[in-house]
Amino acid sequence: KLLERKVALVTGAGSGIGKATAELFAREGARVVVSDISEVNGTLTVDEIKKQGGEAFFVKADSSKPADNEALVAQAVQQYGGLDIAVNNAGIGGPLALTGEYPVDGWQKVIDINLSGVFYGLRYQIPAMLEKGGTIVNIASILGSTATKYSPAYVASKHGVVGLTKAAALEYADKKIRINAVGPGYIKTPLVLESLDKPALDSLVGLHPIGRLGEAGEIAELILWLASGKSSFVTGAYYPADGGYLAQ
Ligand code: NAD
Repeated sequence: KLLERKVALVTGAGSGIGKATAELFAREGARVVVSDISEVNGTLTVDEIKKQGGEAFFVKADSSKPADNEALVAQAVQQYGGLDIAVNNAGIGGPLALTGEYPVDGWQKVIDINLSGVFYGLRYQIPAMLEKGGTIVNIASILGSTATKYSPAYVASKHGVVGLTKAAALEYADKKIRINAVGPGYIKTPLVLESLDKPALDSLVGLHPIGRLGEAGEIAELILWLASGKSSFVTGAYYPADGGYLAQ
């Protein structure tokens, strides 16, 4: 198993990509700290992991709050004795509107969760990894390197995640902490399925040369590789997994 006895923290693990990642990590032998703002969904992920014979516990945390991030890392260390892997995945889509009409509070919320949330994660995860080393995977998006209309906050937040990933990776490259970002194309999760109708989903499919949207499990496989020792020479990188979206 790739992550035997490793301690792995996953934010936003109550749904979609985070849930698939937490479950895959557990199947690969990790002890998983499942975190989400939703206690109901996070607990369901833990139940699923335990049903499959894995080890996990739930910590409720709002990624946009520094104190929640600090307490989350502290609980991981207290329960499992350290922190080897962190996946900063919690994120929201935010309102859809032209930049010239964008709700200011909506902008702030997206930046708080999607960008500041990743910084707060790094801020407390890195100190917990300094002694033994570790790996961190930040979930950006294809919109971390290209743009779409009507989502200026999301696009800016994800470009920010890619830059923050590189900046932090440089600082810790020689301190045994590798930090990378993943750029999913459109994935069939509640974030996408609940915000778009059928015609909008069909036109999204057309943007992916592979001819379909992605599955959460397909992103989890890339996150697993980046979190594991298999990617030992990889740091400061941004890896799209997008069915060819960015190749066009
Ligand atoms: P999702 O909505 O299925 O899951 C997101 C999870 O994050 C939910 O369980 C939610 O409760 C949690 N969450 C929301 N706000 C939070 C907060 N403040 N603190 C803690 N948890 C919070 O979404 P998903 O599609 O699995 O998205 C996961 C990540 O992947 C996000 O960062 C998203 O931007 C990114 N992403 C998704 C897609 C896609 O097409 N689905 C594409 C590119 C990137």
